[in-house]
Amino acid sequence: MFAPPGRAITHVTGDLYRANNGGWYVAFLVTPDGIVLVDTLNTAFATWLKGELATRFPGKPVKVVIESHSHWDHAEGGAVFRDTATFIGQQGVLRNMDGRFPALPGDIIDRNEDGYIDIAEVEQPFLDRLWYCGATRGAVTAKDRDGDGRASPAEFFAEVVKPDITYTDRMTLRFGGKTIELVFPGRNHADDSTAVLFTDERVLFGADFPADALVQGSLRSLPSACGPFDGHPLSEWIGSYRKLESLDFDLLVGGHGNRPFTKAEMAEGREFLETLVREVEAAMRRGESLARMKQTIRLERYRDWAHYEALREPNIEAAYRNLRIYK
Ligand SMILES: [Zn+2]
Repeated sequence: MFAPPGRAITHVTGDLYRANNGGWYVAFLVTPDGIVLVDTLNTAFATWLKGELATRFPGKPVKVVIESHSHWDHAEGGAVFRDTATFIGQQGVLRNMDGRFPALPGDIIDRNEDGYIDIAEVEQPFLDRLWYCGATRGAVTAKDRDGDGRASPAEFFAEVVKPDITYTDRMTLRFGGKTIELVFPGRNHADDSTAVLFTDERVLFGADFPADALVQGSLRSLPSACGPFDGHPLSEWIGSYRKLESLDFDLLVGGHGNRPFTKAEMAEGREFLETLVREVEAAMRRGESLARMKQTIRLERYRDWAHYEALREPNIEAAYRNLRIYK
């Protein structure tokens, strides 16, 4: 989605780096005992990255892969590192891979409840909110191994490695003389995400939250707000921001975003959601219709943010639906 082409490794600070596949980013920390990698994106990218790492950091295999969340566009390709790495994820990653219908991004849900992701079920949210939600049919056809025109939950995770180690709320990883904190922020974009705090480097990594796939050079970007905010209460989204804000770090690097961000920049995203909730709740109390809210709630402070024109009304609608479900 709006991704610049190409792959590169970029230095963040100390022994911490990012690598990107277009607009999708991973992070890795080089230690004397090997490399800790967060996310693998897809098999082609992971294969490229493994070659680059072997050239730049010879004798330092990837020993740990942390899975930021289970969504295929960040989690695939882990098998490339299976020979040397232990995989760690929040316990929800395993739950989403247990054969039941998984939590997927972009309002992709099993609308006809047949237990499969059909082409129409990825295309319809894409057509409703072009480029902002859903996916193209390739998201299904690339996974449809048995050729029945749809993807089962198992097919959706065929290229995702199940974590060997899971945790619930927080886990401390000591590796190669470094301390890394894995933090479950709560449910937001996903229900199984891990924010990775590189404590020695004072850098936090998170994929799709707080920076979703629309973010490029600035966090001043309206959220894509697919479905009723990905089916998770807005109070938990705001709580997730607060949990990350409570962590001790200087820079946020995302699974999206072409530069590191500051904690102050991150906090603006929480303030946007708080403003949105406050104004939609007030309109609901006044008894306004959704159509009327879309006229009255202008979110003027955010007029300069990316995607304001396209996403102001969808954000109001998503918040309205969210706040109706999760009172
Ligand atoms: Zn995601």
